[in-house]
Parts: sequence; structure tokens; C-alpha cells
Amino acid sequence: MDARNLTDTECTLYGTKSCALLNMRTCDECPLKGRVADPEIHRDLKLFCDLQPEGTVAQLFESDTCQLCRTEPKGETSCYAVFDMAHEEPKQLARRRFLSRQVTGFMVPLQFACCKYCRRRMLLEAYMPLIVTLAMLGVVMPFVMTEQLAQSLRAIAPWLPLALVAAALFGGYAIGKLLAFLYRKRCESMMFIDVRRHPFVQKMEEKGWRPLFNDRKARVAFTNKRIGKGLGTAPSAVYDLPDAEYAENNAENTEIPD
Ligand SMILES: [Zn+2]
Repeated sequence: MDARNLTDTECTLYGTKSCALLNMRTCDECPLKGRVADPEIHRDLKLFCDLQPEGTVAQLFESDTCQLCRTEPKGETSCYAVFDMAHEEPKQLARRRFLSRQVTGFMVPLQFACCKYCRRRMLLEAYMPLIVTLAMLGVVMPFVMTEQLAQSLRAIAPWLPLALVAAALFGGYAIGKLLAFLYRKRCESMMFIDVRRHPFVQKMEEKGWRPLFNDRKARVAFTNKRIGKGLGTAPSAVYDLPDAEYAENNAENTEIPD
């Protein structure tokens, strides 16, 4: 992980726990740059810490072994499975998401340390309907695309080539969904293939966090290099720092004259 390069020593967040929690690489990319004389920021970030389950979200990505394996020995971390969660707090930041009834204040990426086997299983399960559909189309297409074969099909019934393609599409998707379901059942004893059943996600839910978008199916993205900036990406040691106090005299220094 690259070192942080913080240059704005005038910033009221400079050197505080709040700055460490925001975990920006440089002051220029910080979203709070230029409007930091607000004591609410420290209060909001303290609330963010209070809403963390024991061990904080940092334990998920700091692990050298896979957090999704159920069986021992757990696989070696080779990537990160990212699952976003949101909280209704803080109320003053909360807003309704576009095209959704979910109200979100804080958002945090859960970055599960993941081994190559768990990643392969999750991707295979997710893409199974697509893979089976493409395979079925691959079988049917030569019959439809080859003029001679298509002609003999049309001789039986004019709609037959089209019906074959439709059957491959819908049948392939349905079979793929079924296979994905069976595969998921088989994998469940080996790993948390549905991250929403992970004990840490359940602890987050007890603290009021909900999956972002609240979908029926968990959306998980994979990344080889973990997300290194923003709320929820700071190392676990940051959460143990003393809380940032808002110094009244800082407000005078940063006040902009009319
Ligand atoms: Zn694993």
C-alpha cells in the first residue's frame, strides 16, 4: 500500500483520526478539501466507528487467508471480493438513492480477502446461465446458419429455425439457472458463496447496515488490488486512535472574511 502524502497542514482535519479514517492518498483528492471547519465531520466519523462490529471492516482485507472459505485450511488471499453496504445514518447525509427506496448515509465497501478457488466458484456460479445459454446457441446455430440445413428445417415447418434459436435461448437460460442453483448448494459447505450469510455481514446488519441496493442477489465485484482510499479502507489500527476533537480556535483561523 502506497504511503499517504498529505500536504495541507492548514486543514482542520490534518493529523486527526478523522483524516486517517477518510484515508485519502493526497489532500487534493479529499472530498472535504476546502470545507473542513465543520465539527459535524468529526461527529459523523465517530459515529461511523461506533457503527463498526467488533474488529471493524479492516479485519476482512487485512487477513492473509481467505475470509470466504468455510473449511480448514483456508486458502491464501489472492484477491478481494467487494460487497457494498449502506447505513441510514448519519441522518443529515442520508438521501434516497436514484430509482430505489433505500435511504443511504454512510456507504462502506466490505473487502473480503478471497482465495483463487472461492473466486472461481463465485464467478462460475454467477456466469452459469450465460455459459449454458451460449453453449446451447453454439449447438443450434450451425443448423440455422447453414443454408442447406436451414432449408431442410424450413421444409419440416417454416418457423422451425427460429423456434430452435428461441428454445436454445430460453432453455439454456433456465438450465443454467438450475445448474447454478445446484452448484451453489454444493459449494455452500465449502465457502460463503452467498456473502450475505457471512457472519460479519450479519454482525453489520445487527448494527443497522444493509446491502447497498438491497437486491435479492448479492452483487460482488472482484479486484486484485484492494480499494485503498475512502471510508472503510483504513487499517484497523486507525480505529484505535483517540477521537478527533474539534478545536474551537481552528474555526477562527479558517473563517473566511466577507
Ligand atoms: Zn476461499
